[in-house]
Amino acid sequence: MESVGSALERVRERMAKAAARSGRSLDEITLLGVTKIFPAAVVRAGYEAGLREFGENYVQEFESKSAELGDLPGARFHLIGHLQSNKTRKAAELFQVIQSVDSAKLARRLNEAGSKLDIYIEVKTSDETSKSGADETDLPAIVDAVRASSNLSLLGLMTVPQWSEDAEQSRPAFAHLRELAGRYGLSKLSMGMSNDFEVAIEEGATLIRVGTAIFGRRAKPA
Ligand SMILES: *Cc1c(COP(=O)(O)O)cnc(C)c1O
Repeated sequence: MESVGSALERVRERMAKAAARSGRSLDEITLLGVTKIFPAAVVRAGYEAGLREFGENYVQEFESKSAELGDLPGARFHLIGHLQSNKTRKAAELFQVIQSVDSAKLARRLNEAGSKLDIYIEVKTSDETSKSGADETDLPAIVDAVRASSNLSLLGLMTVPQWSEDAEQSRPAFAHLRELAGRYGLSKLSMGMSNDFEVAIEEGATLIRVGTAIFGRRAKPA
């Protein structure tokens, strides 16, 4: 299997090409390594290869891994999977960034947990009945709730478009997210995964979430 280091190098080359194509600077695009399902040793391998931002989907799974990851200076962990309101306290303890805020109630709960958190609001950009992501119509109330929360700092919007082999299928969702963020004066856009991050960069992504292209294929979740 390809090493994390060389896979990472190839991802960075793809990022550089997409940035150059769209006249953007690489410095404004953060690469988030998505390590869900993989053991702590893989997070560590990513860190050693130079990654500092990591994405995890499951609070419980990350809780057990994080015990083995206490000594990674400068590493930041983002929750990118759906967050249930009964896990907000634990999530606020374990993560520095929550990208999956999809209700005003969840924002208030996170604020009450008492840790300082960077926040993205996750928005549904496809009709697919996915379990997470706010409807656009709820966005004003969620933006207000996050902005009214002294422990929360609202960075931007996040989305997961309907999966497709063809990355071009994601472009309208990405363009729409950028337009929505502009309406609320938000500068950060978390969008793009292994198969479509170049398109996301062309459409203004400031953070891409990449798992498979760096770490290889995941086992199915238990
Ligand atoms: C798993 C996951 C990713 C990474 O997906 P890859 O296709 O492996 O790059 C990105 N974002 C979210 C929300 C995910 O759940």
